[in-house]
Amino acid sequence: SVAIVLFTSDLRVHDHPPLRAALDAAERVVPLFVLDDGVRRAGFTAPNRLAFLAETLADLDASLRARGGRLVTREGPVVDEVCAVVRETGAREVHVAAGVSRYALAREERLRRELGAQGCALRVHDGVITAVTPGAVTPDGRDHFAVFTPYLRQWEKVRTRSPLGAPRRVEVPDVGSAKPLPENVPGASAGLPSGGERAGRERLDRWLSSGIRDYAERHDDLAGDGTSRLSPYLHFGCLSPLEVVHRARTRGGEGAEAFVRQLAWRDFHHQTLHARPSAAHADYRTQHDRWRTDEREAAAWRDGETGYPIVDAAMRQLRHEGWMHNRARLLVSSFLTKTLYLDWRIGARHFLDLLVDGDVANNQLNWQWMAGTGTDTRPNRVLNPLTQARRFDPDGAYVRRWLPELDFLPGRSIHEPWKADGVPYPAPLVELSDGLARFKAARGKD
Ligand code: FAD
Repeated sequence: SVAIVLFTSDLRVHDHPPLRAALDAAERVVPLFVLDDGVRRAGFTAPNRLAFLAETLADLDASLRARGGRLVTREGPVVDEVCAVVRETGAREVHVAAGVSRYALAREERLRRELGAQGCALRVHDGVITAVTPGAVTPDGRDHFAVFTPYLRQWEKVRTRSPLGAPRRVEVPDVGSAKPLPENVPGASAGLPSGGERAGRERLDRWLSSGIRDYAERHDDLAGDGTSRLSPYLHFGCLSPLEVVHRARTRGGEGAEAFVRQLAWRDFHHQTLHARPSAAHADYRTQHDRWRTDEREAAAWRDGETGYPIVDAAMRQLRHEGWMHNRARLLVSSFLTKTLYLDWRIGARHFLDLLVDGDVANNQLNWQWMAGTGTDTRPNRVLNPLTQARRFDPDGAYVRRWLPELDFLPGRSIHEPWKADGVPYPAPLVELSDGLARFKAARGKD
């Protein structure tokens, strides 16, 4: 007998319930990945993610080969391709991780219908893409949590299953596969991390044995690089979020607690998107429609030429690494949506174009959180970029790394190049006090 495992955002062999269930159910298993036209057209595989994906698929193929199997890849509409593989192999079951986004839920629905018509069952597995399944914890009388802290309290009480090991052997039937994706992707950033489960597990091991200990104190230090950088591996499912939570909890300590809380944020945004798929584009809670339009300012923000070195450094990090420090994401998103008062969707789009970890749930809902349209209980907070710079980059080490042209400015004076004479640097796009006054007027505050 044959079963198919459809890999989506879960590109790994460790802790993979659909793969385990398929191996239990059938003698031979098709580990299938479909590069869907729809995903490509929607721009969700921007060059940085496509490059990381290519390496991740090559790594998954290598892991399966080490177990006697291989990865089968196809290109085209996902449901059609799955149905074709069912016809070619006579598979009776297709196993897949439960999805979160509107796209994933629609895919599930169509698969159920079309596979059913072929006499093939669809088995959907929870706890693969998030540690706690969306909808597993809910407040009384509501379908999801709109505020993080009460969600966290419930999330922490959930007794999750133990992580599964990787299978020993995977027997794959004879079935055609597309050519592997080229790993050289034009337009990809130079400083991307290596994709794949193996690279992700190595990073996780290193993180658990050293970095995590000081996470509580160091996670906001912009230059210190005191965060895990596991986000791309979690986004593509090279790592199981449930396994990461388990291992961090076993490690223990204040750093591990703070780190696990961040993983709860990830689940929180996924449960929000799952309950309100429209939040990918539309304001989640509070409608704001008085955004300014100013393409010149938006372009200056994207290009890291706002005249505020802390903002510009962060935007350069994004372009170079396809990643940005969380504190930097917070302050550049506040700058765009509150100081410039430009629509959060402009920023979210640019992030999705470049982030290796860019995903609809975390990106759109973090943007909405900062724009004050989402789940923040203080929707009108404005982060002052200078205060943030002095606090989280006190000696300017982060700015120096990304804007070497300002390195000659000593100490914290690097954050205010306009105060020194003749510095060849763009003038601030807007005075912070003017930005704040405009923001308050638009939001009807005094
Ligand atoms: P760590 O600090 O080591 O945290 C561990 C893990 O927890 C992360 O890998 C991530 O999976 C999760 N996590 C941490 N913070 C958050 C958060 N606020 N929301 C959700 N999950 C979190 N994260 C993404 O994965 N994809 C995105 O597209 C994304 N877009 C963002 C956009 C904005 C405007 C903001 C403010 C934040 C965004 N984040 C996004 C959240 C966060 O910035 C990144 O997850 C984090 O910087 C990744 O680095 P790390 O792995 O070193 O994080």
